[in-house]
Amino acid sequence: MPKRTKILFALIFTALALVNMAKADTNILTTNNSYSSIGEYTFTRLEAAQPLSIEQARMAFIEGKFSTLNKSIASFGIGSRPVWLTFGVENNLDRPAPRRLAIENSWLDKADVYVIHEGQVVAQQQMGDSYPFNARPVDHRFFVFDHDYAKGLSQVFIRSETPDPMMLPIFFGYQNDYDYRDVFNGYSYGLLYGIILALLLYNTILYLRLRLARYLFYVVYLAAFIMTNLTYTGHGYSFFWPENNYWQHWAHPFFISVFGLAGIAFAFSFLKTRQLFPGVFKNVIWLCIAFCFSEILFFQMEMQTLAVAVSIGFIIFFTIFVLILAVYSVRQIQEAVYFVVAATAGLTGSLVTALTVWGLVPYYEWTYRATEIGLAIEAILLSIALTEQFRLVQNQKVYAEKMARHDPLTNLLNRRGFDEIVAHLLSNAQRHKHPLAIIILDIDNFKMINDRYGHDAGDSVIKRVSETIQEVIRLGDISARWGGEEFVLLLPETNAEQAMQLAERLRQKIANLKVQVLTETISITVSLGVAGKKDENSSIDELIKKADDLMYQAKDAGRNMVCAEQFS
Ligand code: GH3
Ligand code: MG
Ligand code: MG
Repeated sequence: MPKRTKILFALIFTALALVNMAKADTNILTTNNSYSSIGEYTFTRLEAAQPLSIEQARMAFIEGKFSTLNKSIASFGIGSRPVWLTFGVENNLDRPAPRRLAIENSWLDKADVYVIHEGQVVAQQQMGDSYPFNARPVDHRFFVFDHDYAKGLSQVFIRSETPDPMMLPIFFGYQNDYDYRDVFNGYSYGLLYGIILALLLYNTILYLRLRLARYLFYVVYLAAFIMTNLTYTGHGYSFFWPENNYWQHWAHPFFISVFGLAGIAFAFSFLKTRQLFPGVFKNVIWLCIAFCFSEILFFQMEMQTLAVAVSIGFIIFFTIFVLILAVYSVRQIQEAVYFVVAATAGLTGSLVTALTVWGLVPYYEWTYRATEIGLAIEAILLSIALTEQFRLVQNQKVYAEKMARHDPLTNLLNRRGFDEIVAHLLSNAQRHKHPLAIIILDIDNFKMINDRYGHDAGDSVIKRVSETIQEVIRLGDISARWGGEEFVLLLPETNAEQAMQLAERLRQKIANLKVQVLTETISITVSLGVAGKKDENSSIDELIKKADDLMYQAKDAGRNMVCAEQFS
């Protein structure tokens, strides 16, 4: 390592050490602190088999049986034993300081708070969603506890118990700061739900119009996302089902399951998994059925922790699975690329949230709520993916329609395309008593070219002839490939005489072509028959038949020739 780099590292380490020392000095929560996480001031202890009373918890703390948390958010996973947290609050003022404590989690079964001052329990509050919503001290989706902290040091104890993930983002500070955050949260949820609801409505309409299952699955997926989010953020309990704490408990695993299943159904129909990977499709369907049955079983047996754990495990597994599936589908389904990007956005968001909760990523509002940001981006991208898929299907349709009317080798109209256009042209010409002519053109001795130089060479000759036809005719004229090496031209506003001149020009031009086939340069000739509209009643079929007969006359007369009916 160069000397300069060493010095740089030494300086950085010294600076970090100084910062840590400074932190250690100020490592006490005072009532002057702005509203923020209590993580760095917190000590925790998991409860053993027997529940502790507040007295026992205090003793344990005094005996040093609590350990420091050292991260901004305490989290102990699913099905954790009850946990005790404690932190001290110093009030340096001469008067009591009203401050707010908020456990920014909506699903804890029990969150009991005790404030100890001068050896006495001066306040205590039972909170948690195992109590009815209206029993809360503050009407809020989180567990919020206000207290006037007396002068000097108070010690706050919190006991939390839940079968769901034991995640404890605990904040402390001025109520004003808190209110500001609350307003910000209100707007941000408004934005999130607004985006999802708009997509939901839009795709519902698309489903009703198009009747494609994937739109329905997507709508269910979005709806389940909103419901899951309403549930775990506590909006559901505070606004929609405040009386029903039984449902509040089961809403988590229920909506997570619906969200996961709808996600898989959508992925499968979008990625055409049934057709592309029938084996995977079948196995996953069985897995989903097994998953549903086990969730119903857990519900029957009131095993909430297991129900939540299995539903979260299911959703993590399938988020990753769907992403891998999308990557594998890209080769067959190009719009799966959008799906991959969308799923990656969703997964990244969830990952950032998970890392934040584990303390591996610093806690900010947006890192903690990255799942929601990721999902909003995912939802928008999936909607684009659906649009893209629709566009591609539409393009294929347009292409198929074009191919049904055109000849792929020469790009000219085929018989069907010709018939469709021509019927209308003829009726126009008849109504206005305008002239109209038909030319039939057939390559001479074409079989010989095929036999001598091969089919591909024959194809290139056909192409060359069709190009020459295109060069000679006018814009309004219609040309079509009538058969193998036979072409038909329809010339509006053209009488038989003019048509014959054009046919003659065409014959000469083709006869003068130097056509490169393999290593040789050859000449080709064509025979043409020309028929003009005589009376008002002649049909296209009659005209073509006439031109065809005349073309055969040209063949009989020695080929490389134009034959037209006698005109006056
Ligand atoms: P004639 O001067 O009497 O018209 O003789 P010909 O050999 O041109 O006529 P014939 O109808 O006997 O043969 C036409 C050949 O064209 C037969 C067929 O194999 C070939 N053919 C038809 N469609 C295609 C095609 O798309 N590509 C190629 N290379 N050959 C074709
Ligand atoms: Mg021929
Ligand atoms: Mg022929």
